[in-house]
Amino acid sequence: MFDLTGKVAIVTGGSRGIGRAMCEALAEHGARVVVGYASGEEKAREVVSAIEAKGGQAEAFQVDVSNGAQTEERIADVAKRLGRLDVLVANAGISIDGLLLRLRDEDFDRLLSVNLKGAVASSRAAIKVMMRARTGRVILVSSVVGESGNAGQTAYAASKAALLGVTKSLAREYATRGITVNAITPGYIDTDMTAALNDDQKKQIAAAIPLGRTGKPREIAAAAVFLASDEAAYVTGHALRVNGGMYV
Ligand code: NAP
Repeated sequence: MFDLTGKVAIVTGGSRGIGRAMCEALAEHGARVVVGYASGEEKAREVVSAIEAKGGQAEAFQVDVSNGAQTEERIADVAKRLGRLDVLVANAGISIDGLLLRLRDEDFDRLLSVNLKGAVASSRAAIKVMMRARTGRVILVSSVVGESGNAGQTAYAASKAALLGVTKSLAREYATRGITVNAITPGYIDTDMTAALNDDQKKQIAAAIPLGRTGKPREIAAAAVFLASDEAAYVTGHALRVNGGMYV
């Protein structure tokens, strides 16, 4: 089960955190993985080396998903060079937190251009290739905050809730082409994005999670492997919660 041998997978934001774990897990299941990064080339190369050290296939791939034209061109180039594109994980994301009254328009725009428009541009490029093959898997990384909302995260929540609408619309639009489109909504996961919180804040968050702890990147990666696999062929338009019960 979950054999991805022979498949090509692009993971945007694959150089760190959840994306890195997804790259490693997809490679462990046999996929050739394209590890996306925006500016952290060294980190992306570390991921490639870790995958190769275990006998997997990977390469680093620079793309700033907030630049739609560049994103589409680069994803098309990779698919052409590798001869196929089976899986896209649109994982690249940023958070800019703050109460509404302090939310600056330029921060809101920046956040939407990476988290929302970046995922849409990546999906458009991937789906163009997948349509010709009449098969493909698109996985968008949303968030529990897109479902529950969170004080101080209006902009972030807006971007992540919008991705759920994108997921459902694209799932309907491309089902007849053999392409499934799903989202993952992670809860609170230990990565650089969440490292800024102090121990007290982390304890408070853990107390609000029924499973009593924060999540690990590999627990999100497992969901991506499933959604990327042939076994998930009948799952589309779904948002898979991996949140320890934080929102049910
Ligand atoms: P992270 O550790 O901060 O890593 C972010 C990744 O995104 C890095 O690889 C980064 O590459 C890349 N990235 C940032 N801006 C980019 C851009 N403009 N173009 C292309 N790549 C860009 O984040 P994470 O915690 O693993 O989060 C990954 C995804 O999961 C995000 O979409 C996040 O919103 C979502 N999520 C996270 C949590 C959580 O608790 N951690 C919960 C729910 C959802 P560089 O290093 O090159 O900048």
